[in-house]
Amino acid sequence: MKILALSDKIVDIIYTPSIVKRMKDVDIIVSCGDLPNYYLEFVVSMLNKPLFYVFGNHHKKIIYSDIGEKKGGPEGCINVDNRIIRYKNILIGGLEGSMRYSGKNYQYTDFQMCMKINRMKPKLYFNKIFKKRYIDILITHAPPYKIHDEKDLCHRGFKCFNNFINNYRPRYLIHGHIHIYGLENNWMTEVNGTRVVNAYGFKILEFDCKN
Ligand SMILES: [Zn+2]
Repeated sequence: MKILALSDKIVDIIYTPSIVKRMKDVDIIVSCGDLPNYYLEFVVSMLNKPLFYVFGNHHKKIIYSDIGEKKGGPEGCINVDNRIIRYKNILIGGLEGSMRYSGKNYQYTDFQMCMKINRMKPKLYFNKIFKKRYIDILITHAPPYKIHDEKDLCHRGFKCFNNFINNYRPRYLIHGHIHIYGLENNWMTEVNGTRVVNAYGFKILEFDCKN
C-alpha cells in the first residue's frame, strides 16, 4: 500500500492534473497541516482516494473567498484530530497543532497535548484488545521532542509524542511543521520501530498491510 504524505508547502508536481497519472498507485493521502483547503480538495478530487488530515498552527478558522466566507477544513477529507479511525484495516489517528508560542488557535502546551492523548486512550486500548495493536499511523503537525525539531518554542517537538511512540508503537508518525531547505536535513528517523517522517512538501511511503 502506498501513502502520499503532504505538508506545509504546495508542490508544483502535486498541484497539476498530471498527478492523476503519476500518483495512480497511491492508496491513501495524509496531510500534516498548514496547507490550504483548495490544495487538499484538488488532490483528493484528482486521485479519488481518502485523505486524512490534521490542522497545523497556521490554519485559518475562517477563509474568505469570492463566494463568501467558509469555515472548517477541506471538503471531502477526513479530520483525524484526537481520534482513531479504521480504513481498510489500517488504524489512523491524528493530533493537530504545534507547541503553544503565541496563544492562538491550534497551539498546545505539552500538558494540553498529553490531555488530548489521554482522550484517545479508550480507543487505543480497544484496538489493542480487538485489533492486536494500538494504532498504525499517527498524523501530527509538530514532530516529537528532539526528533527533527528545532530549539525555538514554536518549532519544538512534543515530549508526549515520544511517550506515544514508546507506549503505542505506531508504525509511522508522520509530521510536518519543520521546513526542509537542504539535503542535509534528515526527513526519516526510526525510533523503537516507529518511522518518524517529516512530510514537508510531499513524501511517498510504503505501508505493508500485514495485519
Ligand atoms: Zn506549522
